[in-house]
Amino acid sequence: MTDTIFGKIARGEIEADLVYEDEDVVAFRDLNPQAPTHLLVIPRKSIRTLSEAGPEDAELLGKLLLVAAKVAEQAGIAKGGYRTVINCNAGAGQTVFHLHLHVLGGRALQWPPG
Ligand code: AMP
Repeated sequence: MTDTIFGKIARGEIEADLVYEDEDVVAFRDLNPQAPTHLLVIPRKSIRTLSEAGPEDAELLGKLLLVAAKVAEQAGIAKGGYRTVINCNAGAGQTVFHLHLHVLGGRALQWPPG
């Protein structure tokens, strides 16, 4: 598992405001929210970034999306609309190199993103 802040959260070594967890996936509130609801969904497995995921991760990647939909529903943002984002590598704004999916909602979101 990557030795990042998210790896530590996945291993339960540091606290996060968890909204969901199972044997493969953990979801928690972003510390610096960019929308009224801003959740992060991560695999427990160490994958640095989306471009390093492989065919063996297909089921896990699908599960991340299903958990994103579940936590969005639970947070009450599904009906109003929400966005899922994966920043892949530094040029796209990735700062934590443990794969994570952002779930943003609770306000009108602009398109295209910056
Ligand atoms: P990214 O820029 O896509 O790598 O996103 C990293 C996100 O992680 C940012 O939105 C940060 O606010 C968030 N973040 C960093 N550390 C923590 C933490 N300990 N708990 C919750 N969110 C965090």
